[in-house]
Amino acid sequence: MGSQREFHLQQRKGRRVILFPLPLQGHINPMLQLASILYNKGFSISIIHTNFNSLNSSNYPHFSFHSIPDGLSQSEASFADIVSLLSLLNVKCAAPFQDCLAKLLSNIVEGESIACLITDSGWYFTQAVAQSLKIPRLVLRTNSVVNRMHLVPELPPLRVKDIPVFETRIPETLHQVALGLTNQTKVSSGCIWNSFQDLEQISLATLRKEFPIPMFPVGPLHKYFPASSSSLLSQDQSSIPWLDKQPPKSVIYVSFGSIAAINETELLEIAWGLANCRLPFLWVVRPGLVRGAEWIEPLPKGFLEMLDGRGHIVKWAPQQEVLAHPATGVFWTHNGWNSTLESICEGVPMICQPCFGDQMVNARYVSHVWKVGLHLERKLERGEIEKAIRRVMLEAEGQEMRERIVYLKEKVDLCLKQGGSSYQSLENLINYILSF
Ligand code: UDP
Repeated sequence: MGSQREFHLQQRKGRRVILFPLPLQGHINPMLQLASILYNKGFSISIIHTNFNSLNSSNYPHFSFHSIPDGLSQSEASFADIVSLLSLLNVKCAAPFQDCLAKLLSNIVEGESIACLITDSGWYFTQAVAQSLKIPRLVLRTNSVVNRMHLVPELPPLRVKDIPVFETRIPETLHQVALGLTNQTKVSSGCIWNSFQDLEQISLATLRKEFPIPMFPVGPLHKYFPASSSSLLSQDQSSIPWLDKQPPKSVIYVSFGSIAAINETELLEIAWGLANCRLPFLWVVRPGLVRGAEWIEPLPKGFLEMLDGRGHIVKWAPQQEVLAHPATGVFWTHNGWNSTLESICEGVPMICQPCFGDQMVNARYVSHVWKVGLHLERKLERGEIEKAIRRVMLEAEGQEMRERIVYLKEKVDLCLKQGGSSYQSLENLINYILSF
């Protein structure tokens, strides 16, 4: 066994992979996890990244980092219109990326060769650059397989209101971004998915028919390496000792990820919904979550003190550790794909509060296909919130969701073991990269 591993490492020595993550937290995490997996398998790693949401390279001393200017003005570098941001990035980064990649290709050290480029699917301009520089490009899709807008009519569990919605100033931009993303993935050398066969079997089969390129569902990627080292915000470690003091499966963990935003009224409804249900809660209020507020100053004075230690609010949590903690009973989530997968992997049922885009589709699948969560669909109102929490935490239907998600968690564990589907896909991916 040992000598076989030695042989494989030797074979990959001198092969370098260049990765280019999209500068958003939910895209950076899986890309850096993939980079760590490839490094562990013997490849050398280079990361190209933008100045915007620049990465902390000190957590990865074994990778080489190359920063490119993205040219975004302060007002452009905003999450308020994510579609325009994506479109702008694809225009403004094109020339600096091409220069950077060309330099990396021409400055190869002796005994080394560059095997391929792996970019986020959101960097659709990179396909043309890769072709012009004659380097194979693989794509990493960081959302669920089922999330492909143009397929909605063929997917019965989805209703019109589950169709990914992005608020954007210029609707035409959305069409252009969606088209770029799909078309430039179709002509790439292959697509890597942060998902696993057992969860998305039907969608994967449909996709394989439609996309004539190799597919590698190797996820969940965070099971190999945690997201903490690629976190843009520092994770408040006080969450864990606070959880240690709570009874098993008693805590409501609330987080809406790195981009979603709410208004002050919604903040207050959430606060009172949590307070009124009389269960302990750990709540992530990211600076910027509440439009027009710095942090939690719109909450009534003395709100937390009144709860006598039953509530803990942090700016950013070590989410994977929180979900894995025995005290965590439910995850009230916006259903970003990473959060959804992380919850599945720890067997924690969800309350779904999707805000935009792929989150709508994920929430529908969590609640109506996998049946491991409750979709909070009505207006964000304290009474509705309290009812939903009670249904999942205290009633039989919540217990059934818990049993189903524990079953999915077991499937995850199996797919990553030798002979499992993700394990095999990863082997296939490595052999494929070596074949270039
Ligand atoms: N996350 C975290 N601490 C938090 C909230 C989120 O570390 O307090 C991480 C989470 O584990 C996940 C990522 O941030 O890996 C969020 O990605 P997701 O796809 O769920 O949502 P997005 O932020 O892209 O909307």
